[in-house]
Amino acid sequence: MIIPRASRLTPEQLLEVEKIVSEFGCRIQTIVGAERSIYAILGDERHETMINRILGLDYVARVDAIDSPYKLMDIKSTLADGKLRLGGVEVGAEPLFIAGPCTIDPKNPNLFYETAEAVKEAGGHVLRGGVWKPRTMPYSYQGDNAALDILLEARARTGLAINTEVMEPEHLSIVLDAGVDVVQVGARNALNYPLLRHIGSRTAGSNTTVLLKRGRPMAPVDEFLAAAEYVVSAGNPNVLLCPRGTLPSMDGYRNHPDESITQLLKEKTWAAVIVDPSHSVGRAAFVPGAALAAMAYGADGIVVETHIDPKCGIGDDPKQSITPATLKSLIADAREIWKLRRKYSPTPPSS
Ligand code: PEP
Ligand code: MN
Repeated sequence: MIIPRASRLTPEQLLEVEKIVSEFGCRIQTIVGAERSIYAILGDERHETMINRILGLDYVARVDAIDSPYKLMDIKSTLADGKLRLGGVEVGAEPLFIAGPCTIDPKNPNLFYETAEAVKEAGGHVLRGGVWKPRTMPYSYQGDNAALDILLEARARTGLAINTEVMEPEHLSIVLDAGVDVVQVGARNALNYPLLRHIGSRTAGSNTTVLLKRGRPMAPVDEFLAAAEYVVSAGNPNVLLCPRGTLPSMDGYRNHPDESITQLLKEKTWAAVIVDPSHSVGRAAFVPGAALAAMAYGADGIVVETHIDPKCGIGDDPKQSITPATLKSLIADAREIWKLRRKYSPTPPSS
């Protein structure tokens, strides 16, 4: 949509604009208003050079794009018809629950195995566990390849799908060789475009799901969608969007809870939104409230750090993991809220 500086373009100016857009297979539709006219670009208006050339005309005030810049993530994209199955769930048709420790402790594999059994018993669908960890300090525990064997063994024992974070292409190769079900991109890599593209192309055409966290600094909704567009445009549409709190934090919380972004995402994209309340609020006591709020905002599920004995965990577990007993009641309550919330969704469920 071209907005001229004056109330309307002169015939000569209109001709010039028409000539530019025609070079890109588009045409102009003039919309005549009483006070001023605006000019719709009909056709694919995402050509950056076309837009820049129009913006370069001194009689044009601005150009508002109607088509979203993320054409694959857009709710109108044909990808909206796709169905994602994970952990026995058709995502979107029922809520998805991902749970497990922040970090797998390779020295205490039994804690992970017991947590895995408890997550299954609580009704979880996917077992999470960090093999490699993005740590603020280089001296903190960074992860261990041996932890992947523990994760795989837990899958073998429980039948749960498994989720772990990768930070670099080498991690990705290892987890893809192992057949990990969900590859997590953490908040620190959320805008690492070469990594996102690499993950999208390496998992193209596969059943691998990519759980993409939202970046840490508060940023426009579109930035999150554009990051997912990198994965999808490289070939893998199996993405889950994961808000996890942003910076600056709200005093008392680890981050600024951002589960309300779900409603805005849902307006723009077809992708499922799985909220992480654990990193958002950062304290076990606050996690259930944030998780239920997330469901009320329309989340398709939650990913919650859970540990059989949080005080014996490593990484984030001692401070923010909930127990399996809390997880179990939280899953039951989250299901209820999910059902209630559906009454208010823009397109009421048919069933
Ligand atoms: C995690 O899931 O343990 C994690 C490090 O998350 P985030 O990238 O959101 O900080
Ligand atoms: Mn964590």
